[in-house]
Amino acid sequence: MGTNKSTSHSAVRPKVAVLGSINMDLVVRCDELPEPGQTIMANSSTEFCGGKGANQAVAASLAGGDVNIIGAVGNDAFAKRLMDNLRHHSIGCNHVLQRSEHPSGLAIISVDQRGQNSIMVVAGSNGTLSAGDVQSVEAIIQDADVLLVQLETPVDAILAGIKIANQAGVKVILDPAPALKSIPPDLLNIDLLCPNESEAAALTGQKVASVDDAISAAIRLQQMGSQNVAITLGDRGTLLHTCDETTLVPAFEIDAVDTTAAGDAFAGSVAVRWLQTGNLQNAVRFANAAGALTASKHGAQASMPSHNEIESLWRSR
Ligand code: ADP
Repeated sequence: MGTNKSTSHSAVRPKVAVLGSINMDLVVRCDELPEPGQTIMANSSTEFCGGKGANQAVAASLAGGDVNIIGAVGNDAFAKRLMDNLRHHSIGCNHVLQRSEHPSGLAIISVDQRGQNSIMVVAGSNGTLSAGDVQSVEAIIQDADVLLVQLETPVDAILAGIKIANQAGVKVILDPAPALKSIPPDLLNIDLLCPNESEAAALTGQKVASVDDAISAAIRLQQMGSQNVAITLGDRGTLLHTCDETTLVPAFEIDAVDTTAAGDAFAGSVAVRWLQTGNLQNAVRFANAAGALTASKHGAQASMPSHNEIESLWRSR
């Protein structure tokens, strides 16, 4: 795990490498999410740039990171918009591949009037990312302070990224979304795992409803390999389990309108703040503020807060 690399040179603006998906999100708003087999009339539709990799890259950049993304876009009109958007957020895109045979990734997100969502993702070009692709850009991982990965790109590519990072002493953070029922052990050879409740339940096979359930799942996930575990619990905050402490870091009270990308805001900002402060509990509190602010606005990347907005929510409570 990446605990040996000195990060003092980049304490102010940590170098973040994100290996992950880049998608166009089609957001459909409705009163109630449809049941299986049901057809409903929705209220509106909007396109946003998204994908868990891109979202977390944007969150990390806004939180104060110097971010590069490794990924793949397709051969369609979405690709240019997706790349322009990443560049607009000051994210290095030299390691984004363009696939001529595949469409860009697409996510169809339904949001009800209470802000609950359900999401379907079509991998498209994201599904073509291979271990060889990642090995061919290993320098960008070796040069980073932290590698941020999720599960919307092929597992072999993620495993290759984790191996390169571990060998170079670069910290690795995995957001295990979307949930996997069985996980290759090497995917948990990491410094921090940050699942939400349902992902923690899928990985452990245990129910995760109460905070006590989350503590028991976090202990299990640490036994499975991750050095530290932060289970995000929506408006209850985050259960942090490390070698030294098990703490419920409370959420910031806000009016939630759309929780889309709250977990992505959490992952991107926890990475930056952990590198900046060296203190994981402090980083989780900062990331809780980022998640709360994201849940208080509509959209994915569009709802993500800047470093100053996160700081000012933090100071106000
Ligand atoms: P995911 O989007 O992956 O399901 P969560 O919903 O658990 O992740 O959100 C991530 C973090 O964002 C939470 O740990 C919490 O700190 C913050 N958050 C999310 N929803 C709310 C909310 N309704 N009120 C306050 N904070 C929230």
